Amino acid sequence: MKPAPFRYHRPDTLDEALGLLAEYGAQAKPLAGGQSLIPTMNFRLAQPAVLIDLNRVKGLEGIREARKGLRIGAMTRQRAAERSALVRQLSPLLAETMPWIAHPQIRNRGTVGGSLAHADPAAELPAVAVALDARLLLQSQRGERWVPAREFYTGLFATALAPGELLAEVELPRLPRRSGWAFEEISRRVGDYALVGAAAVVTLDRKGRCERSSITLLSVGDGPLGAAEATGSLIGQEPTAQAIREASHLVAARDIDPPSDIHASAAYRRKLAEVLSERVLRRACDRARGVAEVGELAQT
Ligand code: FAD
Repeated sequence: MKPAPFRYHRPDTLDEALGLLAEYGAQAKPLAGGQSLIPTMNFRLAQPAVLIDLNRVKGLEGIREARKGLRIGAMTRQRAAERSALVRQLSPLLAETMPWIAHPQIRNRGTVGGSLAHADPAAELPAVAVALDARLLLQSQRGERWVPAREFYTGLFATALAPGELLAEVELPRLPRRSGWAFEEISRRVGDYALVGAAAVVTLDRKGRCERSSITLLSVGDGPLGAAEATGSLIGQEPTAQAIREASHLVAARDIDPPSDIHASAAYRRKLAEVLSERVLRRACDRARGVAEVGELAQT
């Protein structure tokens, strides 16, 4: 299919892009890598009257170290983040997650900001942003504001972005000492969207008890979902195999109410959420305790 007719603008500067967004408001959509927007336009699920192509806008791309952690410009290609030594060093959960997104060809073109802004409930990056307590920089002609990832996702394919606003950057805070992380998902074929995915972040105190823990799931609801009951059950406890098993059971029994669709039944998603939660929690706790895996040892 072909898209409905639209006007096309290709600004060179951020000021120009923000000016066009202010002029056209809700009629306009920014075009980043086009890997989600163009297919939805071709199917006429999206019919923006105006496309504002961000691909020539200077200053929206790049990965850099900041005081609190890592900052990634919205137009940074997913492949660049996947290959970045700085990402591996400062945000290893993100590094572990990147290869799970789609296929290399799509990551070559798709952007970090495009995935965060698109807010697909089966996408990996929104879940990682929530898991890491990231914040997002939104810019418009009116000024700029930082929004915590947790508040950015407001529903199915819905975000806190207002008409005229652009996602400019994401900031991923550094994890404290004695922290561990892990991401895993199950999909039908390599590169497919996940049937369910899970990210865990754990910080232990000096005695090996859980000071902070989070499990964030994708593809079980309208957006990234934090498993509050399960992770609350671990706080103050030593994360033994039994405690992790019980927390993972709580994820499935109490924290989620997944949908059934053509890809998987609710019951199957529940089972996957439990199994994946146990795996990522176990790995995150091992890493927090400093137990390296064979692959990690090989890299050192
Ligand atoms: P675009 O498609 O250009 O834009 C997506 C949306 O975000 C549009 O509404 C656009 O207006 C808006 N937008 C883009 N940038 C900004 C910005 N800076 N500020 C405000 N709004 C903005 N993704 C996954 O996460 N996991 C997968 O497993 C996966 N599998 C895929 C498989 C296939 C076959 C395909 C085609 C895509 C898949 N994707 C998957 C999607 C892919 O990751 C996209 O790259 C991503 O979702 C969108 O990024 P983009 O840069 O292409 O954005």
